[in-house]
Amino acid sequence: MFDIAVIGAGPAGYSAAIHAGKRGRAVIVIGQNTGWLARAESVANYPGLPDISGRALLDAMAAQAEALGATLRGGVVHQVLQMGETFALSLGADFVEAKAVILATGAKQPRLLPGEGELLGRGVSYCGTCDGMLYRGKDVAVIGQGPEAVSEANFLMTLCRSVTYFGAADAALDARIAVRGEKVEAILGEARAAGVRAGGEELPFDGVFIFREAMALDALIPGLTMDGAFIRVDRQMRTNLPGVYAAGDCTGLPLQVAKAVGEGCVAALAADGMLRKKGETP
Ligand SMILES: Cc1cc2nc3c(=O)[nH]c(=O)nc-3n(C[C@H](O)[C@H](O)[C@H](O)COP(=O)(O)OP(=O)(O)OC[C@H]3O[C@@H](n4cnc5c(N)ncnc54)[C@H](O)[C@@H]3O)c2cc1C
Repeated sequence: MFDIAVIGAGPAGYSAAIHAGKRGRAVIVIGQNTGWLARAESVANYPGLPDISGRALLDAMAAQAEALGATLRGGVVHQVLQMGETFALSLGADFVEAKAVILATGAKQPRLLPGEGELLGRGVSYCGTCDGMLYRGKDVAVIGQGPEAVSEANFLMTLCRSVTYFGAADAALDARIAVRGEKVEAILGEARAAGVRAGGEELPFDGVFIFREAMALDALIPGLTMDGAFIRVDRQMRTNLPGVYAAGDCTGLPLQVAKAVGEGCVAALAADGMLRKKGETP
């Protein structure tokens, strides 16, 4: 059980982990470390570091968080479930438990496909390792994004009759997998998923696996109060859900590293304070 689980491996998430680590907290950061900042060729406005690449800044933050005791883990959190006073974070086949959660998921939130939410668990899955056996000998679609999608598609190919991958062709994909470049527009089906609509065409499948590098916030954590596209927080970075904090681009403008790390700091200290009030000393 971790004291604090941080969702998102960007500046806000690492900053939260650094400050929580300095308070002696057991903290885990979950995310891919390939977010927005990694794409910035040069960051010229971060105080004290006038000419640094986004990648170098991100790597330095990750190393600092790890040196202060944070556990860094790749992957995507699919859902946050409240379990009384604690939280269970689902990562496909695995769960991580924590006493507090900091959402540091950035500004780019994918939308659910039409039909996806309704058919989740009924022919739509986010986890090949968990649900692959249900589709043994069957035809499945994989809607892919990122390295997890490729390895999960390859795993499914060892079980299923056919795997059709909707996404960019990737050299690491099993040669038996059919790759289609069309964007999937909807998941089809009434009681169960029966296929997808892509490029205006209806294509039948027994199951549909979806892998993204992030989750839509309404699927990640139901009941979160939003302000438009951003998570509503108070000055302590508390959301409307007790024990859940948010920091960085996901809480609003300006979308800047300096603001993200400041909010990560506040969220971590607030989460630490809340745990201490409950008698949870590190
Ligand atoms: C090209 C470019 C140049 C930029 N230049 C500058 C600049 O010069 N100066 C500046 O201040 N800012 C700059 N920015 C903006 C800056 O990168 C962002 O403000 C900053 O990265 C926000 O940090 P964050 O931690 O809030 O979010 P992000 O850096 O977006 O990190 C969020 C992370 O969370 C992950 N995530 C989301 N959902 C989940 C989930 N369910 N499970 C696991 N992980 C999840 C995402 O994949 C992502 O890796 C630039 C951005 C871009 C794109």
